[in-house]
Amino acid sequence: MASSIVRMRGLGGLRTIRCFSASARREAAEVNRLGVVGSGQMGLGIALVAAQKASVPVTIIDTSDKALQKGLAFADKLLAKDVSKSRITQEQADKARSLLSTSTKLEDLSSVDFVIEAVPEIPQLKFDIFSQLAQICPKHAILATNTSSISITRIAAATTSDPTDTSASSRVVSTHFMNPVPVQKGVEIISGLQTSKETLDTAVEFCKKMGKVTSISADSPGFLANRILMPYINEAIICLETGVGDRDSIDAIMKNGTNVPMGPLQLADFIGLDTCLSIMKVLHQETGDSKYRPSVLLTKMVDAGWLGKKSAKGFYDY
Ligand code: NAD
Repeated sequence: MASSIVRMRGLGGLRTIRCFSASARREAAEVNRLGVVGSGQMGLGIALVAAQKASVPVTIIDTSDKALQKGLAFADKLLAKDVSKSRITQEQADKARSLLSTSTKLEDLSSVDFVIEAVPEIPQLKFDIFSQLAQICPKHAILATNTSSISITRIAAATTSDPTDTSASSRVVSTHFMNPVPVQKGVEIISGLQTSKETLDTAVEFCKKMGKVTSISADSPGFLANRILMPYINEAIICLETGVGDRDSIDAIMKNGTNVPMGPLQLADFIGLDTCLSIMKVLHQETGDSKYRPSVLLTKMVDAGWLGKKSAKGFYDY
């Protein structure tokens, strides 16, 4: 047998995760064409790294040409920076850029082998997209989400109106990339209840081809990365709103005291305060545990439209 089942007791009750031994036989399928839905900071980063490291053509989908042009301009900037720092040659940059194409029609993903969704963290939006992807993409295509917090099992369930038909839901998995994608090596791979072993293996192998280091986690609120990271950021915001420390003191003590590149408030600005708030809401609602209540200040800042770096104003001005 290629995998063993480990039973774990956690907040959400008893869960099972599959553990693969080094000798486990891989059942990964080949990925020759990638689709990415959403050309924001995560989607664009994923598309660019896939073109650069895995050398696959990537079709990027967004709702408007304006959003796509903004994404491509960002890709050009990142590639030019890599060339100027001699990390890659101009030829390599041109090759990666030539592998990126764009469209505003989801139907243009009809010949991809693997698609990664990276639209905003709004459950119904993701459910609608997966329901459409199940119809549009080839019947072998892996349907991956970059969600930070939404249950993979629920996203997989949105691919069909008949829960006993797992032909599409078994191909749903999460490839949870970290921000910024070109820099951070870690990717969390999460299976839903319906996810097949071949789907999981293909996701792991493809992320490795992209130069990433994979971790496997259970489909539990926040998975691993955000279950640990978001309460830390939220607590820093509570410290700010209750006057335990000011912005600079909070960021300085964590940056200089725990050897991380930036403090929690600056990190929240980079992630996006809307994203942080939606993850805290999921943790709070799905566990029912008051320790995950979102900070009042975080909620107010999102209400004000101060979303961090992407809106030029957050805990810092950009
Ligand atoms: P973003 O707001 O920067 O980008 C989202 C993009 O999706 C935008 O370009 C938007 O126009 C596009 N979009 C919206 N509706 C669409 C639709 N129907 N079809 C196609 N495109 C559509 O968001 P982001 O920060 O890139 O986050 C994307 C996902 O990645 C979210 O699920 C988020 O939780 C997750 N994530 C974010 C981070 C982070 O640090 N920002 C880290 C890991 C995971």
